[in-house]
Amino acid sequence: MKKTSTLIMLAAALSLTVSASAQVTVLTHATLIDGTGAAPQNDVTLVMENGRIRDLGSSARIAVPSGATVLDLTGKFVVPGIINAHGHVGANRDPELRQYALYGVTTTTSMAVDADDIAEYKAEQKRGNLRGARILTVKYRFMSTTEYNTPESARAKVDEIVAKGADFVKVWIDSQNGRIAKINPEVTAAVMDQARKHGKITMAHIYEYADARRMVDQGVNILVHNVRDQELDADFISTLKQRNISVVSTLTREEGMFVYAESPAWIDDPFFRKGLSADRLTLLKTKKREEQANDPELARNRRAFALDTINLKKLSNAGVRIALGTDSGGAADRYFIQGFFEHRQMELMVQAGLTPMQVIQAFSKGASEALGVDREFGTLAKGKAADLLVLDRNPLDNIVNMRGVQAVYLGGKKFE
Ligand SMILES: [Zn+2]
Repeated sequence: MKKTSTLIMLAAALSLTVSASAQVTVLTHATLIDGTGAAPQNDVTLVMENGRIRDLGSSARIAVPSGATVLDLTGKFVVPGIINAHGHVGANRDPELRQYALYGVTTTTSMAVDADDIAEYKAEQKRGNLRGARILTVKYRFMSTTEYNTPESARAKVDEIVAKGADFVKVWIDSQNGRIAKINPEVTAAVMDQARKHGKITMAHIYEYADARRMVDQGVNILVHNVRDQELDADFISTLKQRNISVVSTLTREEGMFVYAESPAWIDDPFFRKGLSADRLTLLKTKKREEQANDPELARNRRAFALDTINLKKLSNAGVRIALGTDSGGAADRYFIQGFFEHRQMELMVQAGLTPMQVIQAFSKGASEALGVDREFGTLAKGKAADLLVLDRNPLDNIVNMRGVQAVYLGGKKFE
């Protein structure tokens, strides 16, 4: 008995020793793309400890702490983890956040409605229990003409959701091609104003140019979709730039509204298929394909995608902050596949005319600044969260190389 307990104590002591030394992980000889837009740095060493980047710089300069776990990344690339500035997470968070993380998305937003336990879930993530991507939430979205339909009731609801852990405050303005009534502008103005009183970043789902203009007038911080009914003009674009307003172009979502009718080759790619069950894939190839092929709004949806593409390039050329976002997740029958969509979005941004470097900036610097989390997340620098990806090939040569994620580090730990 005594012998056994001694052995147990010895084993415990050993495991403590092991975990203490394993707390420091060092990546050496990597090529670093830090997300700021700076040129890649060769032969970089990155030291991770307690979830953060303890040190970062030339391998010749950075000393490897004794007892650290060292990984030689010669020939490999390190980029920031992907921040998705427009995502959706359902009530069963763990599997969805896990899927995001496995695709390299280390932070996602949740942009509809989250139950009250979201506050405790986020607190647990902050304590280091990361079972998937980090989540930031709007908690509730103001969209209906029937709920909180007076300025007073809307302000009270803002107070409530902020108290319950909302990171942002979002309004949803869309007639769905004339099918539903839009939320009252007096209500959105009250929501914006009340959110500002709490110091919260505000977001607007818009489709039409007129609504985007009104929300800019009302002081919104982020347009979480691009304008999709008209081409943007230079005056509006310069207003966005002057007022430091960020734009999320959800090209992959716009494509996702019609592309399944075309049975694109990529739905048989293992990189797509790992994001959904075999049953769901079968439904996608049959029911969903037919549904989209017969959609009376097919032409309108194609046009929305084309306009998003044009407007994204205009905004990027003018230097408006672009944050990567996708609208992934949400209702299962949308087939907006979490994780895959973020990579597809990157390809579509390059097809729109952005460089791979601009795309990387959009999912790191741009998204973190837009969401107000750039002090801790986004670009890779000393002191920031160790959320990063190891890639086999250079994403600047071809953004599709982002798919070659060899390892995901979330809070300094390898996520698998
Ligand atoms: Zn959305």
